[in-house]
Amino acid sequence: MMPWRLLRYRDEATATLPPMYTPRSIRHCKLCGAPTEYQVPAGDNRERAVCSVCKSVHYENPLNVVGTVPAWDDQVLLCRRNIEPRYGFWTLPAGFMELGETSAEGAQRETIEEAGAHIELLDLFTVLNVVRVGQLHLYYRARLLDTEFAPGPESIEVQLFREEQIPWDEIAFRTVRETLKCYFADRRRGGFEIHCTDIA
Ligand code: ZN
Repeated sequence: MMPWRLLRYRDEATATLPPMYTPRSIRHCKLCGAPTEYQVPAGDNRERAVCSVCKSVHYENPLNVVGTVPAWDDQVLLCRRNIEPRYGFWTLPAGFMELGETSAEGAQRETIEEAGAHIELLDLFTVLNVVRVGQLHLYYRARLLDTEFAPGPESIEVQLFREEQIPWDEIAFRTVRETLKCYFADRRRGGFEIHCTDIA
């Protein structure tokens, strides 16, 4: 039986989330193309998309988003988004992890793709659970090797900001805001540590 908490989560989720994060979104089997049905497989404890013909079970699990906090002295590099969601808002370079790469490689790749920035990747900095949209965000600190950055196709512009210059009202995502707040707080304290946070 489905616990009531999961049922309630599903109802809330489908009311507010974009389609790609909506549970029960797999309508056809990825192997044979037949329609799927949502049911609890034997030995499982929640509903899965089960193929009505070949009986394959298609699992839906959280996606990993990886990015960096590229720093140059007391400044941090932000990208203004050239894509939805949050077009025109500022973000740290980040994106979905690809198969075949580590989280660190993904963070470095996204920094090159979105900001054209040359960096030395440093330690993992924030681990942010965004349960509402089924994502885990990981940000690494990074040191800019030079100031020869340039916007990639997904960015309108990239720019260095001191703490007092950060456009807090135009930050694209709560995970980015949280990471920036942790970054500047640690920097003022004189030491960086890893921050694990749940984003409501
Ligand atoms: Zn099938």
